[in-house]
Amino acid sequence: MMADYIKILDTTLRDGEEAPGFGLTTPQKVEMAHQLARLGVDAIEAGFPAVSSDNFEAVQRIAREVQGPVITGLARAVAADIDQCWEAIQDAERPRIHTFLPTADMHLEGLPREQAKARAVAMVARARSYTSDVEFSPMDATRSDWQYVAEVFESVIDVGATTVNIPDTLGFAQPEEMAAMVSYLREHVANIDRATISVHCHNDLGVAVANSLAAISTGARQVECCINGIGERAGNAALEEVVMALTVRRDHHHVEHGVQLEQLVPTSSLLQQFTGILVQPNKAVVGVNAFGNDTGLGMPQDVLKGALRARLEQLGLLLSQDELNHAFTGFKRLSDYKSEVTDADLVQIANNGRRAADGVFDAIGHVYR
Ligand SMILES: [Zn+2]
Repeated sequence: MMADYIKILDTTLRDGEEAPGFGLTTPQKVEMAHQLARLGVDAIEAGFPAVSSDNFEAVQRIAREVQGPVITGLARAVAADIDQCWEAIQDAERPRIHTFLPTADMHLEGLPREQAKARAVAMVARARSYTSDVEFSPMDATRSDWQYVAEVFESVIDVGATTVNIPDTLGFAQPEEMAAMVSYLREHVANIDRATISVHCHNDLGVAVANSLAAISTGARQVECCINGIGERAGNAALEEVVMALTVRRDHHHVEHGVQLEQLVPTSSLLQQFTGILVQPNKAVVGVNAFGNDTGLGMPQDVLKGALRARLEQLGLLLSQDELNHAFTGFKRLSDYKSEVTDADLVQIANNGRRAADGVFDAIGHVYR
């Protein structure tokens, strides 16, 4: 039996970029989106077009220039937002409108329940009149009345929502609750098999990745996440951690994904370079310690090789694939001896890799004789 496929929706350019200190220029966003396409994410949430003209322009450029992933824009469940979102994404190869009902409405501080549901339905239908790919999110879903969330999901799926998302907006849920909520919705939304269940977890209690994985265990098939786990407050689920957990523990999760592992570190590095905010050294998967240390924990070679290439490029050392392969052999050998590989070591490793590729030296012998 084919393992189920988990779609990865990257929201670095929307939820991540909105966080103070993580702002990107439009050209940076476009370059980042190209890198996300190389990374192999299934969907890129490119921005929130109604928020500003800069945001609109960035989404539009990404929609026009970036091929491969679904390109989605965020829109409140109001007509003007949805129309503007469509205008921004309409040239995409695969455009998606992601519309959401704000927290206040879910908490009934504004609209009565029936009216909030009616608005969600009307706005999903409006989005659906533009594109066949529509995602709906009730903000703060985990802290809302699950029965009401189920009713809203059933109604929006009826009018064509193809993805229904469960945002843990304030990072409040625990893994067992996320898993239980997905199960609940699968049981109580009659037409749920016509839509993909998605989760969107924040990391306020440090369990965004755990919550995402727990949701997968009971049937979520899209995870929304950010490179390096950036985002408001404590950030979003870290894409690289979700993907590596699914990869290294495939025996446990039994699902597939489409992410190219060797692009994880280059993508992380590009974002760090653009924002000027470095991940902590002990950050899982993409921290320098995770990169520099031995491969004993089962970190796939592709990830390490991508990490090595990215670091060498940062040092201005551009290697061919053959040279990189030799350098990687030297790197692995050196990390058996040294717990910390320095930049000076990397320069030496790169030079040896080049010579070995020319057949002049043996990469390992040259480093260690
Ligand atoms: Zn969020």
